[in-house]
Amino acid sequence: MSGNLWAPWRTEYVGRKGDKGCVFCLAAKKVDDPESLVVKEGERALVIMNRFPYNTAHMMVIPKRHIGCIEELTPEELTEMHSLLVAAKGAVDGLYLPDGYNVGFNLGAAAGAGIVDHIHLHVVPRWQGDVNLMPVLADVKVIPEHLERTYAAIKERLNEK
Ligand SMILES: [Zn+2]
Repeated sequence: MSGNLWAPWRTEYVGRKGDKGCVFCLAAKKVDDPESLVVKEGERALVIMNRFPYNTAHMMVIPKRHIGCIEELTPEELTEMHSLLVAAKGAVDGLYLPDGYNVGFNLGAAAGAGIVDHIHLHVVPRWQGDVNLMPVLADVKVIPEHLERTYAAIKERLNEK
């Protein structure tokens, strides 16, 4: 495969225009509300679907605390975020059989972060050839599965006992 240029999350859309306050903090306060798109709640962190995904099952792992830089993460938060990342990946592996993942933080507006003061770890499943589905322009996206269905499937998988 020759030289596909992966432009990671050139513009993030994680909240809706008009929301007051931090959408992640709001979501953390109502994890049981499907509107929040939270698929898994931990003690210190949670997993939330990206409302404007760049691929099917695009999720984010966020600390519950409203912090804007990775230096402020405690070892306990980091450990839990890693566990949630592994669980989220496992759920997507089981449901959607991706060929790979992009996982990472966008730190600062210049790096593409849409919400700069509450850090979030992106988990973007990738399939061979899906670059054709990725946005060429920021507003053009084709998502093969509806967000609500993906949310429900992943939430069920992540909360199986
Ligand atoms: Zn926040």
